Amino acid sequence: TTATHKNFPMVPRVVFGNGSFNQIDSILATERKGLSPFVFLVDDVFKDNTAFIEDRLALKNGDKIIYVSTKEEPKTSQVDTLVQEIKDKYILPSGIIGIGGGSVLDLAKAVSIMLSNPGSAADYQGWDLVKNKAVYHVGVPTISGTGAEVSRTTVLTGPDRKLGINSDYTPFDQVILDPELIKNVPNDQWFYTGMDCYIHCVESLNGTYLNAFSQSYGEKALDLCKEIFLDGSLDKNDADAKLMMASWHGGMSIAYSQVGVAHAMSYGLAYVLGTKHGIGNCIVFDKLEAYYPEGVALFKEMKKVHNITLPMGICADVTEEQLDTMTSVALSLDPLWENALGADWKDKVNADVLKAIYRKL
Ligand code: NAD
Ligand code: ZN
Repeated sequence: TTATHKNFPMVPRVVFGNGSFNQIDSILATERKGLSPFVFLVDDVFKDNTAFIEDRLALKNGDKIIYVSTKEEPKTSQVDTLVQEIKDKYILPSGIIGIGGGSVLDLAKAVSIMLSNPGSAADYQGWDLVKNKAVYHVGVPTISGTGAEVSRTTVLTGPDRKLGINSDYTPFDQVILDPELIKNVPNDQWFYTGMDCYIHCVESLNGTYLNAFSQSYGEKALDLCKEIFLDGSLDKNDADAKLMMASWHGGMSIAYSQVGVAHAMSYGLAYVLGTKHGIGNCIVFDKLEAYYPEGVALFKEMKKVHNITLPMGICADVTEEQLDTMTSVALSLDPLWENALGADWKDKVNADVLKAIYRKL
């Protein structure tokens, strides 16, 4: 028999506060297995500024930093290559530490799963396909909004789809939330990734899957987003700390519900054009007043406050075939549409409706 109510794991350990990243060495010390090293996957935006991350990691026992590019979102093939490289060198490391945004956090989760499961990461895209517990893994966000630090999924682009590895073994064993790490994020990127959190809230709170669990986290995250993105009086330090917690709560909100129209359509864009998650969500959400009237109105206000100009005409040159692919990727995400529009969603939306929206982007 299948359980009616999902029994989700949560991140069991979290440290929060300015400077908490300095504790990483002592946190990891208790998890080191013999002489087996730790592997740090670090966003390559920090490669040259070694004082920010690298110099603060007390590397020992062959611990290794692998800098990863986040030009493109993580791919199953990239995970497979990294796993092979790590296995060839270390057999099994003591743990994987991801330091970066949603891209690097997802990569770290996926690598830790694939170090203890056979085959390709693509074999595990879906729900509850992972058999063995992942290697110990730690997440250290350096930009906030995706909720990847708290979620039960790792979103990967595979040979035939962009889909998460959703499993009980996906969440981090430890998260380090140090607001100082996000203070230098460039304004546009800060906004796009922050809006991912805002959109999680809107889609969760307006969805048919809503329940008291999701609502309690979603409302808190939404209030924080309003403080951060509308109220210019917030001190930068406060805003960073609050954004970290908004991202956390937004992620918790969708854990027990789902995202909606913007995410479904943004997945289609990402698959065909490679549009990244944060900016893709913004570009789509901006045109969804029919589905989320209040949410979109507030979003437009936030854009104005922060002088954000979204790219226009990104679908101007797409072929009919590309449009078909985008649409079918978006429409394949049943739970998102069911959450957004209800059980009879297939009567309310179809390829033509989506194509008309895509053409406007
Ligand atoms: P990202 O990780 O791609 O980073 C965005 C940009 O910000 C990159 O150029 C990066 O180098 C830069 N950056 C990061 N930290 C910085 C810092 N401190 N200073 C300066 N620059 C910095 O973007 P993201 O929006 O955090 O993550 C998007 C990814 O997250 C997508 O791959 C998406 O699929 C995934 N995602 C996952 C979940 C989940 O639950 N697992 C949820 C939502 C999104
Ligand atoms: Zn998202």
